[in-house]
Amino acid sequence: MAKGEKLNPFEIAQRQLDEAAEKLGLDEATREFLRWPMREFKVTLPVRMDDGTVKVFHGYRVQYNNARGPTKGGLRWHPDETIDTVRALAAWMTWKTAVVDIPLGGGKGGITCNPKELSEREKERLARAYIRAVGRVLGVTKDVPAPDVYTNPQIMAWMMDEYETLMGENHPGVITGKPIPLGGSQGRNDATARGGIYVVREACKVKNMDPAKATYAIQGFGNAGQFAATLHKEILGGGKLVAVSDSKGGVYNPDGIDPEAIVKYKLETGQVSGFPGTKPISNEELLELDVDILYPAALENVITEENAPRIKAKIICELANGPTTPEADHILFKNGNFVLPDFLANAGGVTVSYFEQVQNTYNFYWDLEEVHRMLDRKMTKAFYDVYEMHKKHNVHMRLAAYMVAVSRVAEACKLRGWV
Ligand code: GLU
Repeated sequence: MAKGEKLNPFEIAQRQLDEAAEKLGLDEATREFLRWPMREFKVTLPVRMDDGTVKVFHGYRVQYNNARGPTKGGLRWHPDETIDTVRALAAWMTWKTAVVDIPLGGGKGGITCNPKELSEREKERLARAYIRAVGRVLGVTKDVPAPDVYTNPQIMAWMMDEYETLMGENHPGVITGKPIPLGGSQGRNDATARGGIYVVREACKVKNMDPAKATYAIQGFGNAGQFAATLHKEILGGGKLVAVSDSKGGVYNPDGIDPEAIVKYKLETGQVSGFPGTKPISNEELLELDVDILYPAALENVITEENAPRIKAKIICELANGPTTPEADHILFKNGNFVLPDFLANAGGVTVSYFEQVQNTYNFYWDLEEVHRMLDRKMTKAFYDVYEMHKKHNVHMRLAAYMVAVSRVAEACKLRGWV
């Protein structure tokens, strides 16, 4: 691929699947079926802006595969959203729910927009317009959205309200990641990062590393990145955060950055740049730092064949979806960097979303300790399922995770008589 050419995440997702299908010896029909979304929706959303004009937005919902249960996955609001990013993310959700073995399929949605340029009222109108357009194909037994990049519990609340207005009934389980007073789960807010930290804890055991003495860097400082900063210290008993970046730039201090203080600074100023006692660092430089653990927590395709040879982190915990290209995976594996692949490492979010749905269905709510205990069990089991596959077949961790997940989805498709 020519330098500068944009990588297509859906082509990457299909190539990753092809590699796993080959290794698993899947039959041709199953392979072809799993390479494509089962259903996709494209909607055009006219929204009245605060100045009285109407702006037209484009939205998507992709229901990739529901063999193991209703499709599940977040809604991303991003200026670069396209049908292909949503398809890729929906495919990864399918493998994510399978690898943690929860009875759900995979889906994803998105709206091409820049939420930083929208007022709260405009966001609410956009959220409601989206549900009016796709609400009929959503539902607790059909497809259940959740937050993702630039969407949050408030947006989920408006969407749930719009859905219930359409249906004329109470349906809290139609969407997860809701605010707690509206049926949200304890522990959903930090679940993505927490699940990743549990997996890092197990990875450190098999790699004989002490996470309390590890240095770590975080690329991307949204929900997952911010909680990773503080939970690494809290759950793993220490560690030294040396660098953090967001879309505006990064900061570095080899003597350590106080995780709580930088989260507070980010929430107050909207950026990490300028945090006292640090030197500026670019996103690219941060990825190549000599740290023990690297957390890519932003967007796709940041670790490519170009920079992979220079990556030094011993463990890479992918809190973002799709940060590493297939070429980079092979380089990292050859060089001994241990990758905790996205749909394993960041599966904590959807796992607690599933707990949220279970609680909504029973109309009975768990305490925080229960959520943490159940999440830990799911993540730890998933890590060892993947790790054993990696050892048994001497394949990189992403391919091992694909082999675990794809074989589960393929089995469900076969049992249903689809392929
Ligand atoms: N958007 C999150 C993800 O990519 C969570 C999905 C969910 O909770 O359904 O895993």
